[in-house]
Amino acid sequence: MRILRTVNEVREALAPARELGERIGLVPTMGAFHDGHRALMRAAREASDVVVVSLFVNPAQFNAAGDLARYPRDEERDARDAEAHGVDLLFVPSVEELYPPGFDTWVEPGELATTLEGAARPGHFRAVATVCTKLFAIVTPTAAWFGQKDAQQVAVVRRVVSDLDLGLEIVALPTIRDSDGLALSSRNVFLSPQERRLSLALPRALEAGSAAHEAGGNAIAAARSVLDGAGEIEVEYVALADFDGPTLVAAIRVGETRLIDNVRLGRTSR
Ligand code: AMP
Repeated sequence: MRILRTVNEVREALAPARELGERIGLVPTMGAFHDGHRALMRAAREASDVVVVSLFVNPAQFNAAGDLARYPRDEERDARDAEAHGVDLLFVPSVEELYPPGFDTWVEPGELATTLEGAARPGHFRAVATVCTKLFAIVTPTAAWFGQKDAQQVAVVRRVVSDLDLGLEIVALPTIRDSDGLALSSRNVFLSPQERRLSLALPRALEAGSAAHEAGGNAIAAARSVLDGAGEIEVEYVALADFDGPTLVAAIRVGETRLIDNVRLGRTSR
């Protein structure tokens, strides 16, 4: 596996594959790999001739300076992990490489990006859309793999790809969870044992919502009642959204840590 740090290096490294018409797979990440990332790498490996993983903690998509400063980073460990998963190129650009002085062009997603995560984190999806568009332009992937864990992000990226005719396939994989149900997230390392216990209310609430929906009841009310009874957590939102189908989404805050999760509701929706 090669570690590349500049746009030109990536273009040069991929030129032969492009010429041969090989399938180039891209997995965009912010590093601190867990089994969610590994599932994306595995799927990309299976479906592609060349697998590129990008590791870029995109400052523009963070709202709180503290969140950016404390975001977990361990490039060496991530590089070993990527190599073990058959990744060919690990693209680790600096902030200056992707946002050089004078950078002044942004991809502004529309209405889809104004609700839920978009409302809670102003500018977040504009930054996600911009960096993904840049990565797609640099890598020219046949397909890119994303996690359903960030369901709204998948929906926004799909919209961008479709609206801007970027011509690649977006593949979304199911959320990978710990055995206790908590969705894997790079931010979970911040949870104290007590906070981690409290966090379990999030997947439980979504399960309760999903079960209520299956039974013809109110998914939001069922999820809310679990969260409301969970103790010291702050509920940011519980809502139904159409992200590639009806999806129950929720965001909570546990101490300093913000967690999001979602579940796709059954096709029996009314
Ligand atoms: P991140 O490094 O957090 O930006 O995530 C990189 C990619 O991994 C995104 O497409 C995420 O949606 C995906 N991802 C994060 N957590 C999970 C998870 N628990 N299961 C599946 N995919 C995930």
